[in-house]
Amino acid sequence: MTAVARREEQLWSRCAGCASLLYRKRLRRNLDVCPECGEHARLGAPERLRQLVDPGSLRPLSDLLPEADPIDFVDVLPYPHRLTAARASTGLAEAVVCATATIGGHPVALAVMDFRFLGGSLGCAVGELITRTAERALDDRIPLVLVTASGGARMQEGALSLMQMATVSQAIAALREAGLLTVSVLTDPTYGGVAASFATNTDLVLAESGARMGFAGPRVIRQVTGRALPEGFQTADFLLRHGQVDMVVQRRSLRGRLVALLAATRAGRAARAGHPPVPRQEPASRRERLADDDALLARPAGPAAAVAPSPTSGAGQTLAVRDAWDTVRMARHPARPTTLDYLDSVFDGFVELHGDRLGGDCPAIVGGVARLAGRHVMVIGHQKGHTTAELVARNFGMASPAGHRKALRLMRLAARLGLPVVTLVDTPGADPGVSAEEQGQAAAIAENILTLTVLPTPVLAVITGEGGSGGALALAVADRVLMLENAVYSVISPEGCAAILWPDRSAAPQAARALRLTAPDLCRLGVVDEVVPEPSAAAHGDPAETAHRLRAALLANLLPLLDVPPAMLVRLRRQRFRRFGTTRGVNRAGVR
Ligand SMILES: [Zn+2]
Repeated sequence: MTAVARREEQLWSRCAGCASLLYRKRLRRNLDVCPECGEHARLGAPERLRQLVDPGSLRPLSDLLPEADPIDFVDVLPYPHRLTAARASTGLAEAVVCATATIGGHPVALAVMDFRFLGGSLGCAVGELITRTAERALDDRIPLVLVTASGGARMQEGALSLMQMATVSQAIAALREAGLLTVSVLTDPTYGGVAASFATNTDLVLAESGARMGFAGPRVIRQVTGRALPEGFQTADFLLRHGQVDMVVQRRSLRGRLVALLAATRAGRAARAGHPPVPRQEPASRRERLADDDALLARPAGPAAAVAPSPTSGAGQTLAVRDAWDTVRMARHPARPTTLDYLDSVFDGFVELHGDRLGGDCPAIVGGVARLAGRHVMVIGHQKGHTTAELVARNFGMASPAGHRKALRLMRLAARLGLPVVTLVDTPGADPGVSAEEQGQAAAIAENILTLTVLPTPVLAVITGEGGSGGALALAVADRVLMLENAVYSVISPEGCAAILWPDRSAAPQAARALRLTAPDLCRLGVVDEVVPEPSAAAHGDPAETAHRLRAALLANLLPLLDVPPAMLVRLRRQRFRRFGTTRGVNRAGVR
């Protein structure tokens, strides 16, 4: 290309909607919206901030974080090479830019994602930066505005990226408790782990015109269902029609709408000023509290005993070293015990409770009250099956939004009744179907994650088979997370990861190894607290012995939690999910 041609190319750009050739300066003046057809081009975070905030008010928050490649991920390229390339091409440190600013004179904290940076993927650094921004909003008692653009979790960081959905959600929960407004602005595209957490569990959800949002992407749904998707599937107008967003806003009106919403909610706060204010946590006192809690976490025994980051079981046995792909196949073995099997063998007197009270009862989630060694508990789990007919009837253990809402109802009921919650996680993932998206799958998962971060009762989770992405996490934000020896827990299926990064599903065994999805690996990373060893014949070969071991592990982990006051449980649980930080494994030093 000649210099003249290159210069010409910089001056002009072609609209992705109508293919008109547009003068770049004119396009920029029009906020990167095509004057011919109205197509909203994607914006980088810096340009988005310029469009939204009052001139001169922007105060960027620090984006300095330690370099992280927490699981030494390599596909065809090592992950650090991809990071370096993304930094060079965008000029950004990460896939989010965070700042405080004013919008129409209203102070806000903002986190704006940038899709150009590794698809806006949510990794440890992005989670950390957004969490800090939410904490800044809490400290300053100002609203939080999130502008999302993401393909989902950053699979190169394995389950640690999945944990970020909980980390950010609990920061949103803290703002909810403090009566501070949270707003998300969905921009194109917003998918996966971002959609199923902070993009949809905010007070207000605005969709920019042209945005698409969903949990499962259209390509995956088409592949799985083998059917064409309805016209306009997952577009902003579709989301509005299905009750998932408050409004669809043209880019030129976005700033004005935000100003109006910020003004209205500020007026509401002022009107309430006669009422006792929500107690404010000073930054210093939070630090002191963290120090207190560090002391608690360091106690050698008891409810919050420190994570033992070694590949040993609770009983201290050394576990067999098995290839990750073999473990995946064991976790999926059709004879592996299911939640209903464990309800029969580990618990007594199970009484199943049905329905989400909104119009559905999902067979892929079972739940109800049961007894564990004479104590009453609420048990909620994914249900697969052993035969093809059972699997089909249970949708292969893939919960629908109704299933997530049933689980949510039972969690809240347990808290009201003072019952501890035990969850049994065994799902390939959430339901990749058209109706699941229509019924608000992302928001349903997001609400469960948020609710679990603040549920005032003990929560004990066990990954019993497959812990598949956000669908698994919706039941796995817990005080203690246990994992059966041959279970797996991952941000994406090995096949899905292989198809994207290798790019061929036959590389699934390599992807399984790279993702660090086995129980010993996740124990080392602090995602899991304890591995429950399986008998030598594995769970499917000796279900009775597996049940015996699982029961012992449940009791050993649950009983100490029963003595902890609910407020402290919630505090410790929040710390547990606040620490999946930006350095290798669990950041024991705390990150602030
Ligand atoms: Zn156009």
